[in-house]
Amino acid sequence: MKVYLVRTADFQLEDFENVLNLLNAYPGTIDFVDGGTVELDNPYGSKIFRNKTKFEHQEQLDIMCSMSEYSTKRYERPIFPLKKKYYTWKQLFDEVEYYRNEQHVDLNDFVFLLTNQYNEKNWFAFLGPSLRTGFIHTDDWPWFFGDGTDIRYPIAYEVTTWVLRGLMCQNQKEIVTRFHKKTVGCVNDFCKNKTEITIKMRTADVCDACMQVMKNKDVPPHYLNQLFSVMDGIRANLMFRKRIGIINKDSRIKIDLDAKKIFLTDFGNLDVRLNPKELSLYLLFIHHKEGIALNSLHDHNEELFTYYQKVSGRFNKDEMQNTISLLVNYLDGELHTTLSRIKSKFKKAIGTELSENYYIQVLPTGVHGIPLNREGVEIV
Ligand SMILES: [Zn+2]
Repeated sequence: MKVYLVRTADFQLEDFENVLNLLNAYPGTIDFVDGGTVELDNPYGSKIFRNKTKFEHQEQLDIMCSMSEYSTKRYERPIFPLKKKYYTWKQLFDEVEYYRNEQHVDLNDFVFLLTNQYNEKNWFAFLGPSLRTGFIHTDDWPWFFGDGTDIRYPIAYEVTTWVLRGLMCQNQKEIVTRFHKKTVGCVNDFCKNKTEITIKMRTADVCDACMQVMKNKDVPPHYLNQLFSVMDGIRANLMFRKRIGIINKDSRIKIDLDAKKIFLTDFGNLDVRLNPKELSLYLLFIHHKEGIALNSLHDHNEELFTYYQKVSGRFNKDEMQNTISLLVNYLDGELHTTLSRIKSKFKKAIGTELSENYYIQVLPTGVHGIPLNREGVEIV
């Protein structure tokens, strides 16, 4: 079975790809597939959230007002009253159904639209009449989980739970009737008060009653097994982030030379993408645990060249040697630019505080190096 994720351009590509990484980190017969980008028509209208309470509730607001522009650059906490453009559920489902037909998606496969756009009832997500088509709201997660939240975890979690609901219910009405109005820490909690979603995501559990329904509906056990693994994994990652200050442990990393990515295993396989130059320099420092003084980097010219040759995909030796000579020149700006790009990529992936041990920096000994514990480093 395939689960296609498509996005509107306002949901950042990097976040989108990492949601896919998270979901695909747990092997099984469900494939989570990059379905590309879609464009929505014009919104239906606008709504006003008069206050925080309204904003935090999944219910309809039917006040019409003038349009307002919305910037998606960085999460800005809303100020009330807040005006938002919104789409009707029908508009969103029609868009996804159109995509299904265009792409000849199998009837049993799921397609989810991931979008920062608001929907008429202010829900986190819902499935269309076929129960194989849905939308997931990708904005505002920091509002519920706190500013430091990595929104990719709750979004991946939502994808999982809506697949589960699609499999265990016959129609939209059944989905709604199976919701628990009171939050019990089950996947089927409705969370009318949207802030309660943090409870269900941290328990990542399914109550006995819902478990029985899944059994009665003959949801294939291998699907359940995979979906539960994803949910458990997301929970573990959320917890790993939360507890990292106390347990004082680095995430394992996997350096994939073909993909030119560094996967942060314990952060649910979130990836950091380095270009060949950055990756070669990173490999050099990974291999030199004790660190290297930047002004003696040229002593490692040959070793660096070997890495670059391996990952750059280039063949002209002179050109490659030129690139490396520039890179190891302490007085040239190239080295410092490359170092700062690597640093900012790690920061972007897991935040300033958590990224501290993973990038190249000045070690206590005064030379440059990567503090990361090498036991958890794997190069493939
Ligand atoms: Zn339940």
